Amino acid sequence: MFRKVLIANRGEIALRIQRACRDLGVATVAVHSTADTDSMHVRLADESVCIGPPASRDSYLNKAALLTAASIADVDAIHPGLGFLSENAGFAAMVEEHGFTFIGPTPEHIAMMGDKITAKRAAKEAGVPVVPGTDGPVQSDGEAIRLAHEIGFPVLIKAAGGGGGKGMQLAQRPEELERALSMAKREAQANFGNDAVYLERYLYRPRHIEVQILADNHGNVVHLGERDCSLQRRYQKVVEEAPSPALTPEQRASIGEIAANAVRRIGYRGVGTMEFLYTGGEFFFIEMNTRIQVEHPITEAITGIDLVREQIRVAAGEPLGYSQSDIRFSGHAIECRVNAEHARTFVPSPGRVTGYHPPGGIGVRIDSHLYDGCMVPPHYDSMVSKLIVHGRDRDMCRQRLQRALGEYVIAGIETNLDLHRRIVTAPDFAAGDYDIHWLERWMAEQD
Ligand code: ADP
Repeated sequence: MFRKVLIANRGEIALRIQRACRDLGVATVAVHSTADTDSMHVRLADESVCIGPPASRDSYLNKAALLTAASIADVDAIHPGLGFLSENAGFAAMVEEHGFTFIGPTPEHIAMMGDKITAKRAAKEAGVPVVPGTDGPVQSDGEAIRLAHEIGFPVLIKAAGGGGGKGMQLAQRPEELERALSMAKREAQANFGNDAVYLERYLYRPRHIEVQILADNHGNVVHLGERDCSLQRRYQKVVEEAPSPALTPEQRASIGEIAANAVRRIGYRGVGTMEFLYTGGEFFFIEMNTRIQVEHPITEAITGIDLVREQIRVAAGEPLGYSQSDIRFSGHAIECRVNAEHARTFVPSPGRVTGYHPPGGIGVRIDSHLYDGCMVPPHYDSMVSKLIVHGRDRDMCRQRLQRALGEYVIAGIETNLDLHRRIVTAPDFAAGDYDIHWLERWMAEQD
């Protein structure tokens, strides 16, 4: 096991990783920008290093500063967390070149899955059903028009390097294609420095269902079931639940096995998530995330497995020590992403938290770096807390979630807690009857 780990991240995920390290008896080094000096992840770490000014590109994305901090602190591994450099193959390679262990997959696997075109190709070759679309990037408008007719309208234009819901454009009809294509290319170039785009059939009202995978260096792979992340706004997840209310145990076992087999064939190690769209009883792969995900705690709640601990253990070369038949699913879990944002406009709402009271009681978990009097800086992601609730079944889980949301107080900044309070009592949500567009449709109806 590692002696000391540098956590190249901030906020709740930095805390989450610290906790796993502490449980394993591993010392932690926090890094922080000058905007985060008083952050909880700095206060609770064994050591901390300031790596630069507030802007992410000068601090949390500054590879040289991170590697220097790792050398000075004399760590043996670096955990990238999520976001920032967590899916940057170049960074993973640099970490290894400097003699540290990167707590994640190999740079080759990160690169393969980081490009959605190569990811889809790899998934298809490994026996995973993918969304119908082009096999590679589209080169010209003429080719795009021809291929779009083959795929069938509406088509979605997606950036090969895409992420965070950026770089996607919908063309409902052939005459919309040219404009959508040029917009997607421009957005892709601006956001990802790569204007390669590809076409995919736009699926009608699917659910977003993803499978959690865990693999060690010794050929052992397990899947930990699925998460339903269909409640989205602007392609961003808002509420997630596990298991999906839409799947039968047989479907769960089948898609889990398909994902686990693919990961085994690719030779992947660590934690990973295969994302699918699900419609008409069929699964279609869209992408794979090669890091721990925001919504991992709901899987932890229903399996009892500490995913971050397992991620660190397998990076240290330890075998999983259990197999698929040892995995048991118990009860139901729901996560609400609590964002510092204005309730109506969704504009970020940074500032000082003047009052903080997290909920508690049976079945309630809070992953947050907030505390009474802390500052939420304007420079980073607006997610400030995750409320995770577990219950014996979905109804009990929902009741507990309603209770927990009722107790939660975050004063001084605006949050989306009220939105969550309304979602949890919405009849469609209670019935588990929703798709990836439901939240936006429902919000429009509320206005
Ligand atoms: P990103 O990496 O930017 O998050 P994804 O490929 O994971 O992009 O897609 C994000 C979301 O966009 C999905 O969860 C889904 O809501 C929607 N989406 C993606 N592909 C399609 C498609 N072919 N048809 C309909 N919706 C899609």
